[in-house]
Amino acid sequence: MLSNAAVVESLRWRKIPVLDEGFVCLVDAMGDDAAIVQAARVSYGAGTKQVSDDRTLIRYLMRHDHTTPFEMCEVKLLVRVPMDCWRQWIRHRMASVNEYSTRYSVAIDAAHRTGPDQWRKQAASNRQGSEGTVDPEIGRRLSQAETELHAHARDVYRQRLDAGIAREQARKDLPLSTYTEAYWKIDLHNLLHFLQLRMDEHAQWEIRQYASV
Ligand SMILES: Cc1cc2nc3c(=O)[nH]c(=O)nc-3n(C[C@H](O)[C@H](O)[C@H](O)COP(=O)(O)OP(=O)(O)OC[C@H]3O[C@@H](n4cnc5c(N)ncnc54)[C@H](O)[C@@H]3O)c2cc1C
Repeated sequence: MLSNAAVVESLRWRKIPVLDEGFVCLVDAMGDDAAIVQAARVSYGAGTKQVSDDRTLIRYLMRHDHTTPFEMCEVKLLVRVPMDCWRQWIRHRMASVNEYSTRYSVAIDAAHRTGPDQWRKQAASNRQGSEGTVDPEIGRRLSQAETELHAHARDVYRQRLDAGIAREQARKDLPLSTYTEAYWKIDLHNLLHFLQLRMDEHAQWEIRQYASV
């Protein structure tokens, strides 16, 4: 079995694709099972128990919501996410974030596109949710209109920049489908909380793709 460090090295800076142009990329990781049990057994010290005991203890901690030992482990990710999805993501406050600035830099020239077979219908019972997809012919028209909208919005943005308009103002009409990038560092306790909420079927499909990657 690969060591924790070897797994981290094999994944580091590997951009795992999500949606059409998004990704999740592991930058760094700290801590492992030993860090969790060490914290949980603070009064005994590390290395005094068998590995199988460690597994049992971790399962016990999970089952009983004894969550703070999981905060001894952290991951730092670089993510590329459409802004509408990022708006949901950033609600998770127990994380450290540095996001690409469209005041300093030209906005990333990529917007999330929706395929003709991906337009979901409004759910009848869940006012926040979706169910099923529209007829492919309607989907084709919607995707075509989306392509034109993206091109037009980018063109208007480019015209503003070319006219010397400040980036902070030129960006105001970019679509929410425009991708943003951020470094996101979070401990394992809060990552598991994020995953629990965002892998759930009630979460929006797009953010579920990131949570499930
Ligand atoms: C399916 C779904 C639908 C949603 N719909 C909406 C919506 O319609 N409108 C909307 O505004 N949001 C919505 N949200 C966002 C939701 O309200 C939370 O903001 C988001 O899920 C982050 O959860 P959190 O606060 O538990 O996480 P974090 O912000 O990461 O916080 C983690 C935990 O830390 C503790 N904590 C953090 N900050 C505080 C604090 N200030 N005081 C006390 N404890 C704190 C809490 O225990 C919290 O659970 C939705 C989320 C989901 C998953």
